[in-house]
Amino acid sequence: MTSQLKDETRKEIPEIIVDSSTGKKYQRGKFLGKGGFAKCYELTDMKTKEIFAGKIVAKSLLVKPHQKEKMSQEISIHRSLRDKHVVGFHGFFEDSDFVYIILELCRRRSLMELHKRRKAITEPETRYFLKQILSGVKHLHDRKVIHRDLKLGNLFLSDEMEIKIGDFGLATRVDYEGERKRTLCGTPNYIAPEILCKKGHSYEVDVWSVGCILYTLLVGKPPFETQTLKDTYMRIKKNEYHIPSRIGPLARSLIQRLLQGDPTRRPNVDLILADDFMTMGYIPNRLPTSCLTMAPRFDSRCSTVATRKPLLEINNKDGSPVKNVLKDGVKKVDNVTGFKGGVSVPGSVGQQQSAAAQQAAAGQQQKPDEPSDCYLKELYTQVSAVVASKPDERENINEEESEDPAAVPMIWVSKWVDYSDKYGLGYQLCDDSIGVLFNDFTKLLLLSDGENIHYIERSNAEHYHQLKNYPATLNKKVTLLRYFRNYMNEHLLKAAASMCPREGDELARIPSLRTYFRTRSAIILHLTNGTLQINFFEDHTKIMLCPLMGAVTYIDEKRNFRTYRMTGLEKYGCRPDLANRLRYARNMIQKLMVTKSSNAKSASSSSTTTQHTQPTTA
Ligand code: ADP
Repeated sequence: MTSQLKDETRKEIPEIIVDSSTGKKYQRGKFLGKGGFAKCYELTDMKTKEIFAGKIVAKSLLVKPHQKEKMSQEISIHRSLRDKHVVGFHGFFEDSDFVYIILELCRRRSLMELHKRRKAITEPETRYFLKQILSGVKHLHDRKVIHRDLKLGNLFLSDEMEIKIGDFGLATRVDYEGERKRTLCGTPNYIAPEILCKKGHSYEVDVWSVGCILYTLLVGKPPFETQTLKDTYMRIKKNEYHIPSRIGPLARSLIQRLLQGDPTRRPNVDLILADDFMTMGYIPNRLPTSCLTMAPRFDSRCSTVATRKPLLEINNKDGSPVKNVLKDGVKKVDNVTGFKGGVSVPGSVGQQQSAAAQQAAAGQQQKPDEPSDCYLKELYTQVSAVVASKPDERENINEEESEDPAAVPMIWVSKWVDYSDKYGLGYQLCDDSIGVLFNDFTKLLLLSDGENIHYIERSNAEHYHQLKNYPATLNKKVTLLRYFRNYMNEHLLKAAASMCPREGDELARIPSLRTYFRTRSAIILHLTNGTLQINFFEDHTKIMLCPLMGAVTYIDEKRNFRTYRMTGLEKYGCRPDLANRLRYARNMIQKLMVTKSSNAKSASSSSTTTQHTQPTTA
């Protein structure tokens, strides 16, 4: 019933949307996602070609008084704000059926998706995000606005990986100094104890939420999580939470300051910015977008950070002097490893920086909570559940209901060349990076900047070099990598999206091909970040499965590119073509699971290793 209603309203959203008060016309584009009662689409201003995010709400859904109130509150507060770290508000209007809000487009989604893909992130990344969150919250508090629903899903990310605070549906304005708010229509995610106890609340509830965000980013799960909302609220009221021992002392102490039950004891935004956790550790100026799926490398910075110099002052001065500090760091690490240009480090650096620096000579590339099968078991469980539900045998199949564009994989294989009769498999990822999985199970990656190369041993130890400067032992492999790159560039078509290198790129790490095999009908590619891709030869359809997002992306014969939540497909069903591919995927995952680790090539049903070229996906 409700889904039918939603379906009807969706159909009615016009292709061309006109703001009658200004005459501006917008072309409705890509679906971005749906929320409580809004649907978001990319909207292009037809005159200026500027692209926005359009939040569109059917008036038919705004019937209850609190829904209307939420909407008008959201507009009136959001339009009064303008800050680098707040989602830009570019106008609102309505027609007979819908209310439209024109917002700054945040292409990198939110910290929620980052959290699902990465779980616990490093301390430098956490400081980077926290600094920007606090800068945005300061803007709100300075303008007497309390957000009241700060959570990962409302912290959007721009293409530049900058935080943009959004969704002001629960926000409120403080009318006079010292006012305590008594009411709140809605349920904030990281709800503060004083709201639960109805004691009256103010700015400190945002600080509480920031504490929960800090905890979640560093620990990988929220502080008061339980099976039920009731138990969670109980724990919040009793201030019952546990910080794991691996969390550093400065982070621990800041979490404890923020998550104090008594709101008057919590620091304000300025005091948080001055906290030792923020000032005593390294804060990158920029983060590469690869951080959305892979922990960055801070190897060159570890030795600097380990000396615990307060870097914040240096960072704050417009960024430029920071380069020198970083160069110092590189030199120190180089001395440790004896390499010129390249260093070898363990993967999860930054969490305990000094320890990471000590181990910086060589190490295993694995986070403690990351399974060695790269989430194959989880994926098998998810896909099996969809298959078992017989999604194509329903009466009312409603694929759209499961659509979730935010769950699209960050990285997939856009080209590949199988030369495993001699050397290995070469491939290009959608970010234009190149990789080779050699027959000896080592890997060599050339990042999209065209400069940085990462060599990964069979043991998963990583070594970082540059195309201009690498140890002679890698000569042959680098030559082969160049060969693969040239071959793919010359012979395989792909819409060129050559990127200009930017600051922060040097921190990038990208997933590599963990294993692959070919059958008569498809190639199966498993990446180290858990993404499993299957390219079907005959009709060029593809599916990409992500266990961390619990999602499948299907590129059909017409090159439609759609991402669905697997739990959704289980509930609402899907067409036979997708269901068949999911059944096939389930069998292939099973095959991967019985062939342990990186030598799954032996699972290949075909021993043909002829060179195969693959035109790319759009
Ligand atoms: P909710 O109703 O849960 O607050 P929204 O209506 O704000 O959710 O947004 C719905 C979805 O649209 C979000 O989950 C997000 O994926 C997407 N979205 C919202 N705002 C933006 C934006 N400014 N840029 C890009 N995507 C957005």
